[in-house]
Amino acid sequence: MILEATKPDSDAALDREFNPWLAAEARFNEAALLLGLDDGLQKVLRSPALEMTVHIPVQLDDGRLEVFTGYRVQHSLARGPAKGGIRFAPDVTLDEVKALASWMTWKCAVVNIPFGGGKGGVICDPAILSQNELERITRRYTAELIDIIGPERDVPAPDMNTNEQTMAWIMDTYSMHKRTTVTAVVTGKPLNLGGSRGRVEATGRGCLFVTLQALRKFRMDPAQTKVVVQGFGNVGGKAAKLMHKAGMKVISIIEWDGALYNSNGIDPEALMKYKQATGTVVGYPEAEAIDKHEAMFLECDVLVPAAKENVIHSGNAARIKAKILCEGANGPTTAVADKILEEKGIFVIPDILANAGGVTVSYFEWVQDRQGFFWNEQLVNGRLEEIMVNSFKDVVDYGERHKVHNRAAAYMLALDRVAFAIKLRGIYA
Ligand code: GLU
Repeated sequence: MILEATKPDSDAALDREFNPWLAAEARFNEAALLLGLDDGLQKVLRSPALEMTVHIPVQLDDGRLEVFTGYRVQHSLARGPAKGGIRFAPDVTLDEVKALASWMTWKCAVVNIPFGGGKGGVICDPAILSQNELERITRRYTAELIDIIGPERDVPAPDMNTNEQTMAWIMDTYSMHKRTTVTAVVTGKPLNLGGSRGRVEATGRGCLFVTLQALRKFRMDPAQTKVVVQGFGNVGGKAAKLMHKAGMKVISIIEWDGALYNSNGIDPEALMKYKQATGTVVGYPEAEAIDKHEAMFLECDVLVPAAKENVIHSGNAARIKAKILCEGANGPTTAVADKILEEKGIFVIPDILANAGGVTVSYFEWVQDRQGFFWNEQLVNGRLEEIMVNSFKDVVDYGERHKVHNRAAAYMLALDRVAFAIKLRGIYA
């Protein structure tokens, strides 16, 4: 799902604000400064270990030959193999993939799982490509990356516009090259091809766990909690469903083509059925239609931006009325907006913590594949809860101890862990 950011008139400052690589740098710089991190280590942590660009020739269904550009960035391998999704979108850039790869490094470090960070992207528009074309793009992209991915090197996963099917194609292509089935080369696979129970819902479930911790901290009753969710895809849809099940009132759901409101709460499962039948949330009879650009500013307790980058920025952050911001998407808030949210006293659960449930269950999937022994869903969800609850506590305690906001605390914790690994390993020369 592509959700248009409500971007104010562009000028140079706004272009900088919206550049994901500069946004990642701003957060990195703040945390590095607060930590007093050594200059040399800063240089190491700033530079991705590997950036690969591939040009993928693919025959389209009508016989024409097209060339797609794809990227894979391995930001850090210090704590383990690179880990992170692959996105298909017409506006993918190398800067974006680099930023997202570094976020994966910090995310894996925040939840303390033994991975570095990576990300991939292919510039293409899945909305106008057939399944066969997508399969050919995926397989050729995988073949081009064959030397740099692998269970011990770099383990891709789904991200925007990629899914279980995409992962099955990657796994198959990689396995054909290796002449043996290697399920652990990707995560987010279908359940009967080495996937993990609970993976599809994991990011949304992680959002639920950290939100429940925040509610507990502020002694707020879930039954009295009003939630607004932006995005109704794999993250937002599942987060909405699970928060509703936990007793919260999902009063608004915002999609790229329209927004819904019901003060008594929307039933996300019924809405999902409606969306599956009609292809849109627009026209859902159990809620009223409201302006999709305004819904984010509704009076609510929890706002879950779970669509895409840069939706909360210097031009609109002051209008957010939520008490808690649970960042389901990667990079939904710009670095400039951080300050505004802090001044407003909004409790931010930053993306590298809030949406880490996905990669955490990816870790469980990788472990299960390598063991050849699969866990039941209760075990997966229980272990996920333990990691999310502990990580929330680690970040919030760290922030309180060092008197910094949650995002700075999460970055400081992560940078410190990665820097520690680099120091212990030393620099190979
Ligand atoms: N794409 C997801 C993320 O941004 C999942 C990554 C993974 O499971 O490796 O966290």
